[in-house]
Amino acid sequence: MPANRADIAIVGGGILGLAHAYAAARKGRSVVVFERSPRATGASVRNFGMIWPIGQAAGAIHDLALRSREIWLDVLERSRLPYRPTGSLHVTYRDDEAEVAHEFSEIAPHHGYACQWLSPDEVLSKSQAVRAPGLCGGLWSPLELTVDPRSIVAKLPVFLAEQFNVEFRFNCAVHAIHLPVVEAGAERWEVDRAIVCSGDDFATLFPALLAQCGLTRCKLQMMRTAPQPDGWQLGPSLAAGLTLRYYPAFQICTTLTQLKQRVAAEMPDYDRWGIHLLVSQTEPGELTLGDSHEYGPAVEIFDKPEIDQLILRYAQTFLHAPTLEIAQRWHGVYSKHPDQPFVSLDADEGVRIVTAAGGSGMTLSFGLGAQAVREMEI
Ligand SMILES: Cc1cc2nc3c(=O)[nH]c(=O)nc-3n(C[C@H](O)[C@H](O)[C@H](O)COP(=O)(O)OP(=O)(O)OC[C@H]3O[C@@H](n4cnc5c(N)ncnc54)[C@H](O)[C@@H]3O)c2cc1C
Repeated sequence: MPANRADIAIVGGGILGLAHAYAAARKGRSVVVFERSPRATGASVRNFGMIWPIGQAAGAIHDLALRSREIWLDVLERSRLPYRPTGSLHVTYRDDEAEVAHEFSEIAPHHGYACQWLSPDEVLSKSQAVRAPGLCGGLWSPLELTVDPRSIVAKLPVFLAEQFNVEFRFNCAVHAIHLPVVEAGAERWEVDRAIVCSGDDFATLFPALLAQCGLTRCKLQMMRTAPQPDGWQLGPSLAAGLTLRYYPAFQICTTLTQLKQRVAAEMPDYDRWGIHLLVSQTEPGELTLGDSHEYGPAVEIFDKPEIDQLILRYAQTFLHAPTLEIAQRWHGVYSKHPDQPFVSLDADEGVRIVTAAGGSGMTLSFGLGAQAVREMEI
C-alpha cells in the first residue's frame, strides 16, 4: 500500500493541534492533522474562550501569552472568524481583595502587564454587569480577547485547509509513530516530523514517557445561560476576588497570603472544590460561567450540583445580568503538570509532545505553536 506523505504530522484537533498546524503551515510545510473523533470534543470546545494574558505568571509565560495573543489576532483577522476585544475586569468587594488588585496594578506594569486600578465609579462606567453595592474598585486590563471556542475549533480547520492546504483526517486515531511512519486508523503516512497535542490522552502514544512526567487531569464544571434579552452586553469579561488566588500572575503580590487565609477560613467549600468565577459572553449573548477544579487521574462521570450552586451563589455577589437562568451545564477536562505551566518534550528524534497547558491552553496555544516550530527548526 503506498504511503500518504506530508512534511509534518500533528496529532489532535484541539486548539494546541490547530495552533501547531498553523505555525508549521505558515513556514510553508505540508501538514496533516489527525483527530480521533469526528470533531474535536476535548477541553478546547469546553472553555470560556478567554485569551487571558492578565492571569499568566510574570516573566517568560506572560511574554509567551502576549506573543500568542498577537498571533491569535493575526489568525482571527486572516480567517475573519469573530472575536471580541473585551479586555477584563477583576472586581473587588472586600478590603483584602482590593489590596491584592491594587498592589498588582502598581507593580504589574513594571513586569509588562497593561493594567490599572479603577475606582468603583470607573468600574461601573466600564461595565453594566457589575453590582454596585459594596464595590471597592477593580483591576482593568485592555488586552484580553474573547472567542467562541466551539465555533473557532470547528471553523479553524476549514480556514487551515482552504488557505494553507492543511489536510485533516477526522475519525482517525494515531496509534503508532515510528518516523518516518505514522499509523493512523487504517492509514499509513510518511512524515518528516510529528507533534503530538493529544490533550489528556496519556495512554495511546508514548505512555511510558508520559507516565514519568507526573501529569494529572483536572475536571472543571461549567454553565451557560440562555442568550441575554434585548442584546444586553457583558462588556469586559469578568472575574472577582476568588480569581485573584487562582491565577499565577497574582503571586507577585505580598497581600495575597492574607486573602487566601481569609477565603480558606470563611469559604472552605470554595477552596475544597477550587472554585473561582469567570464570566464571558458568546456571540449570541449567552453568559458562560465557571468554574471548579477537581484534580486526579480518574474523572468522575457525574457532576456535583453543590458545585454549580456554589458557583451561582458567588456569581450573584458581583454579577448583575438580566437572567442567570442556566440553559447548559457541562464539564471539561484538561491535562496538567503539578509545577510546570505546560509540558513540551521530545519523545523521539523529530517527535515532540506538547500538552498540559492547564487552564491557559487557549491563551498560550499559538505562542506554543510558534515556539515548537522554531525549536524544531521546522
Ligand atoms: C472548562 C475549561 C475552561 C477553560 N477555560 C480556558 C480559557 O478561557 N482560556 C484559556 O486560555 N484556557 C482555558 N482552558 C484550558 C484550555 O481549554 C486547554 O488548555 C486547551 O483546550 C487544551 O488544548 P489541547 O489541544 O491540548 O487539548 P484538547 O482540546 O483536549 O484536544 C486534544 C485532542 O486530541 C485528540 N487526540 C488525543 N489522542 C489522539 C490520537 N492518538 N489520535 C488522534 N487524536 C487524538 C482528542 O480527541 C482531542 O480532540 C479551559 C479548560 C477547561 C476544561
